[in-house]
Amino acid sequence: MKALTLPEVGRVACEEVSNPQLQHSRDALVRVTTSAICGSDLHVYHGRIQGVEPGVPIGHEYVGIVESIGEGVRRFRPGDRVTGSFFNACGHCWACQRGLFSQCDQAGLFGFGPRFGGLGGTQAELVRIPDADYTLVALPEEISDEQGILVGDVLSTAYFAVQRGEIRPGDAVAVVGAGPVGLLAVELSFIFGAAQVIALDRVPNRLMRAESLGATPVAADANAVKRVRGLTRGRGADVVIEAVGHADALKLALQVARGFATISAAGVYTENALPVSMGRAFAKDFTLRAGMANVQAVFGPVIELLTRGRIHPERLVTHRLPLAEGPHGYQLFDQRQALKVLLEVSRAPSR
Ligand SMILES: [Zn+2]
Ligand SMILES: [Zn+2]
Repeated sequence: MKALTLPEVGRVACEEVSNPQLQHSRDALVRVTTSAICGSDLHVYHGRIQGVEPGVPIGHEYVGIVESIGEGVRRFRPGDRVTGSFFNACGHCWACQRGLFSQCDQAGLFGFGPRFGGLGGTQAELVRIPDADYTLVALPEEISDEQGILVGDVLSTAYFAVQRGEIRPGDAVAVVGAGPVGLLAVELSFIFGAAQVIALDRVPNRLMRAESLGATPVAADANAVKRVRGLTRGRGADVVIEAVGHADALKLALQVARGFATISAAGVYTENALPVSMGRAFAKDFTLRAGMANVQAVFGPVIELLTRGRIHPERLVTHRLPLAEGPHGYQLFDQRQALKVLLEVSRAPSR
């Protein structure tokens, strides 16, 4: 099959690799129709995730059709149209039984190499999905591929972060980073009851997009903290969503937060330590929440928002490329010339 791989740091290739096979009774094989390039794939691209082997598919976002299943799979059948979480979860361990799927004993990430479970990536024609019953979700017909591709990571990550911000009606919410997750966090913050959403970014056209969604744009420069205070009667934001995943962004998130604020961090950090002043956190009574989205736990509300037309994440898509042009897609995305790149992998069989 064809797949995107990382022959060396900073270079993605589309090459022929061997097909994945069912390995366990609870596996499914999914024929990918649409994949996508995500901000966290750039950590792989730039070598910040160690151990990613050449010749192994990368990527973790996918919509596809179930091709075959192991005898232990109960919830899916060949032919089902699905998307799925960027990590697998067993559904049976202590954490899964409590709905804490991101902490599953068996969890691995697709396309992040052996340090994260060694699962093959989804920027490929076929992908093996372990624990299919708890990793995949069926897509209703009214959800398009372009919407569905965002369910397994970007939209669920934004939803999880905003939910954990515990927005109260009337709150002023600051969103640091107006990339795909940040822009969805803007829309979701309003849905969760924010009266005002302030979007911070360095890239002017991302701020324009945030503004078109109703946010007040603020350039993330030396005056950003002063501007946010000015927009919030001198107090700072009630809730801050950090959607970048970089130490500087988290620092800014803490600076624009008022006392007793909740800062909910959704970005993928690769730093060993973060510049969080515990003295300041103590003095300001901050609540800081950070972590990988518990995707499987928010499938239900996210699918419902889409079927009810409350949110339109497909508007983020700026580029659609065939899989073979994936290497170019990575370049465009890395240079911030693209907001969301979809990869058209194969056509769904007509039913
Ligand atoms: Zn992703
Ligand atoms: Zn589990």
